[in-house]
Amino acid sequence: MENPQISVANPLLRTPLSLIVDDSCPVINLTHFWIQQRQAWKARYTPNAPFRASDGDPAKLSRVPETIPADFAVKWGEWCGEQGIRGKFSLVPYPAGVARVDEGFPGYSRQEFEDWMRAYREIIWPNFDLTCEMITHTHVLDLQSWAMTPAWEQYEWVDPPLEPLTDYIATAMTLLRNVGIPCEGVTSPGGFGSRQESAYAQATLDAAIRVNGNRRPFYFMRVNVAPDAWPDVPIWHSQKEQGIAIASIIGCTDDWFGNWTGYDAGDPDRFITEDLQGGCLPPVLERELPCVLVSHWPGFYFGGEEVGLRVLQEVKRRLDRYDPDGTRTRWMKTSEIGHYWMARQLSDLAVTPLDAGGWQLTVDTRFPTADFTLSVDRALVRVQVDGTDLHPVSARRDLRADTFWVDGQRTVLAFDLRAGVTTARMWEDAGAVGV
Ligand SMILES: [Zn+2]
Repeated sequence: MENPQISVANPLLRTPLSLIVDDSCPVINLTHFWIQQRQAWKARYTPNAPFRASDGDPAKLSRVPETIPADFAVKWGEWCGEQGIRGKFSLVPYPAGVARVDEGFPGYSRQEFEDWMRAYREIIWPNFDLTCEMITHTHVLDLQSWAMTPAWEQYEWVDPPLEPLTDYIATAMTLLRNVGIPCEGVTSPGGFGSRQESAYAQATLDAAIRVNGNRRPFYFMRVNVAPDAWPDVPIWHSQKEQGIAIASIIGCTDDWFGNWTGYDAGDPDRFITEDLQGGCLPPVLERELPCVLVSHWPGFYFGGEEVGLRVLQEVKRRLDRYDPDGTRTRWMKTSEIGHYWMARQLSDLAVTPLDAGGWQLTVDTRFPTADFTLSVDRALVRVQVDGTDLHPVSARRDLRADTFWVDGQRTVLAFDLRAGVTTARMWEDAGAVGV
């Protein structure tokens, strides 16, 4: 009899949803300083350049307060936790060169800083990966003197000099490690590294191993806004035998919450319309591709008006209506998406027939992941993983690790994949089950 076709499906057949939050840092509002420094740089180096909205509007700076209160981070983080929203949240370690996270943010209220760090550690981190967003997110830092240079991380360093790149990223990671946060990956400020993506991915991987011993990190740099481009999870620089690789997490939306400025109001319809048909997300969900929403922290706060948070609340309500029984989507941290796609692409699957009927599947991998889910083109009656029977479930919504579900002529099975060789045995004939 022919061997069954076996493929890796989405985790528990759910399409991943994830929320990327950029430009967040303790205490201060990065956008306030970013606009000030960008205007000062333009006045000095390009005094005749025309107004560009992407440089920020100095006339609107009064709507961008210097700080964002820890109370708001607590409120936002608790609401996301209650709703089951997961993703990635930046922690710019030396935001705008104003104050260092590992020096306790001198110049600002110590209490406010500590409240912020408690919000990061206890409320946000359980549901969101934390990443640096390079060191300052404004000017490039001279690592010898710790002085700001005229170059910008996101402009001149779209094409960074390669020699100091790993040290620069490692320095950003070290500032977070100094406060007990081994970051799961990095976020590119703007297009940082984008014209040197292969080298940038390698530098990030090397820095993650050097600073945190993390052999499977991720970076967030690109956005493919559907339907002009479709999301993917490219894996770079994999060394299969060593279990080393880095994932590129790609967003599928622009920021239609409150934008990076915190004064450009967004609109939930850009994500998903009230009738659940329009907007950017439905066609991505229809294709079952990872659905990574992009946002910026100052836009949620919106100068205290919380416009971005209200947009997020409405988008979440609509996504819940899109998937009322939770069988089609699941919120994941970006690192979880990266780990799953590494397991999906870098595991070796081999099927052989068993003498007494049925088949044996071996999965050989150095890339463990939770809820590894396989689709087999047979209606199976019994499945074992490493000698233990998986529990049959009768509905898709009950699928979880250590279960299998027969869906017509196919079977979906799920288990937590560990590093090494996993052996699964499967039978479609009740007569062979006793063997
Ligand atoms: Zn940013």
